[in-house]
Amino acid sequence: MTDAAAALEADIRRRIRLGGPMSVAQYMALCLTDPAHGYYMTRDPFGAGGDFITAPEISQMFGELIGLWAGSVWMQMGSPPLRLVELGPGRGTMMADALRAAHALRDFPAAISVHLVEISPSLETRQRQALEPMGLPLTWHRSLDEVPEGPTIILANEFFDALPVHQAVMCADGWHERMVKIDEDDKLRFGTARDPIPLFDELLPRGFAAAAIGEIFEWRVDQVALEIGRRVAQYGGAALIIDYGHGRSGTGDTLQAVRGHGFADPLLAPGQADLTAHVDFAALAQAAESMRARAYGPLDQGEFLRRLGIETRAAALKSAAPGAQAAEIDAALARLIGSESKAMGKLFKVMALADAQLGAPPAFEETAGT
Ligand code: SAH
Repeated sequence: MTDAAAALEADIRRRIRLGGPMSVAQYMALCLTDPAHGYYMTRDPFGAGGDFITAPEISQMFGELIGLWAGSVWMQMGSPPLRLVELGPGRGTMMADALRAAHALRDFPAAISVHLVEISPSLETRQRQALEPMGLPLTWHRSLDEVPEGPTIILANEFFDALPVHQAVMCADGWHERMVKIDEDDKLRFGTARDPIPLFDELLPRGFAAAAIGEIFEWRVDQVALEIGRRVAQYGGAALIIDYGHGRSGTGDTLQAVRGHGFADPLLAPGQADLTAHVDFAALAQAAESMRARAYGPLDQGEFLRRLGIETRAAALKSAAPGAQAAEIDAALARLIGSESKAMGKLFKVMALADAQLGAPPAFEETAGT
């Protein structure tokens, strides 16, 4: 185990000894964003040499289409001065590609101030390198609350899956929170809190009271979705959320650790693996709608990108590329929109949360009201 993993594990053990078992959400928050040893705080996890690869790192087409999506939404909004916000921008690749594409719309770049919400100082440095050459005003923030208010378009790719998730386990006497504890052989283990969560059935979507013993229900405290909903409803605009997850709330343990492009044990080497859990899009929609925004989708990522014209864009890039590069473009396209299990087309979903006055954003016209 590396020194950083050992130091974080020692801190987690100390907290458990002092305060008792910690929730899965607290464990996840420490693993990912502990200021000294958290996974995102200390490294660049993306790409072939890292732990996982994301859609913008697969092909420039992804960010470009999202830039054009943002440009169309901006026109739908009546072309106001715009805060273009990205949550968790990673290496800054998606925003760089989006801004390059934005130059195709004549007045759009001049209307934009770019706001990056990033908790990791090392990734912020990466993002500066990617984005400073674009020549637009850039500001970094640690949370969405710090972004100045006003008409806004918010983009988030693989951000919500990294937010801490709580888990509850159905037991004979009701739902208990799933906890991380230290067992008799001194190992970190999952367990359950001693007492059931009071009134938990009332918070659950309908039908869950009948869950079988051992079933797991996951939820996030949807502060970010509430804040997105409040902002777009109050000042105009929309958010585009792309992530892996499910359209309907359900039971199941989706907490997973990924390291070196393979699955790992989430309780081993804390802070050294990416920890994520599926996004419950129904819960996101509900949170944003409670602030009077309107939710569209989710659509499968493959369907969303096809509706935005990714196949035409790929053909244009191929016609300008030499042979070997053409094969790479085909491979990237298949990875982004394909429906097999290794591809992202079906696994990833796309949801828009918009000002109810805006009308359906591009690609969501046929799903209005779902
Ligand atoms: N959108 C990028 C990166 C996804 S990884 C891509 O698609 O390639 C998740 C990103 O969210 C990282 O940049 C990570 O540092 C950031 N992040 C994770 N938790 C965060 C939090 N609580 N607040 C702000 N940023 C966070």
